[in-house]
Amino acid sequence: MKAIMKIKKEREGFELCDVPMPCAGDRDILIKVRSAAICGSDLKFCKWTAWCDNVVKFLPFIPGHELCGEVVEVGKKVKGIKVGDRIAAETHISCGVCWQCRHARPHTCERMELFGHTINGGFCEYTLIPERAARKISNDIPFDYGCLLEPMGIPFRAVEVGEVAKDAVVVVGCGPIGQFAVAFSKISGAEVVIAVDINDKRLNLAKKMGANYLINPQREAVAQKVKNLTTEYGRGAGLVIDASGSAGAMKDAFSYLRPGGKFVILGQTDAPLPLNPSLDIVFKEAQVTGLFGRKIWDTWEKTEKLLLAGKIDPAPVITHRFSLDDFEKAFKVALSGEGCKILFIP
Ligand SMILES: [Zn+2]
Ligand SMILES: [Zn+2]
Repeated sequence: MKAIMKIKKEREGFELCDVPMPCAGDRDILIKVRSAAICGSDLKFCKWTAWCDNVVKFLPFIPGHELCGEVVEVGKKVKGIKVGDRIAAETHISCGVCWQCRHARPHTCERMELFGHTINGGFCEYTLIPERAARKISNDIPFDYGCLLEPMGIPFRAVEVGEVAKDAVVVVGCGPIGQFAVAFSKISGAEVVIAVDINDKRLNLAKKMGANYLINPQREAVAQKVKNLTTEYGRGAGLVIDASGSAGAMKDAFSYLRPGGKFVILGQTDAPLPLNPSLDIVFKEAQVTGLFGRKIWDTWEKTEKLLLAGKIDPAPVITHRFSLDDFEKAFKVALSGEGCKILFIP
């Protein structure tokens, strides 16, 4: 079968390989991949950043963790999933026995495996999903949308913990995660949603997803504009969601977060974040939260319901579709920031 693989970390990019079909173990599900989306972490594998050395356990490996497909074989001990079912993959594969797992936090498992990072993923024709990470979804959810349930889950949680109703929300960074954060804020009753990005195409997309105001930090001072736009809502943002991973943007956000506001960080960076703890956090009673992963399976149930009810429309976020053969073009587009969510249709 065809598989996009990272062969050597020294070699930039990926290669399209012909590899044997994987065999399902007792607790595995073999799926035919029908749709798989490129995530920011896949771009890190492409260039191979220092982060990859800490995450990836073996090379060559198959990346791709946001996917949806159809079951073609189930392991002997798998229960509740049968051939023909529609499956999406949860990236965080928990051990089931550590303290985190035993305390209803499998998404922060201490011995977590990551689909498409520490084990082979789904940029290929067929892939194995451990039973523990397989989410059976309704056949009414198209494959292209099913593969987006995984990246939708984190912005959904950000809006959920942010309790945005009748408040002002600022979403910083309008990649796919930011776009969904805008949409979920809007449908959760936010009074005003402000989208921030240096890419005008992505800002225009955010408008389609429900943003009321757009700010490009290359042209306007974000803090001042947010304060001007939110005076009647409480002088600053009640919820800031960072999906940019920029330490500078995060630092700036503390200046327009209103007293009692919540700051949810989804973007990832190793850069230091210089803060004044008194001014930025204590005096304004800022609530700062990091989110990593979906609540299993609570978040999935909620986002599936929104998709099925037609309350969230991911269509505008999907800007490109490619076959596995065109993987070079796909990653070129992804790295350029030209598009938003880019899918492989194997
Ligand atoms: Zn992802
Ligand atoms: Zn665990």
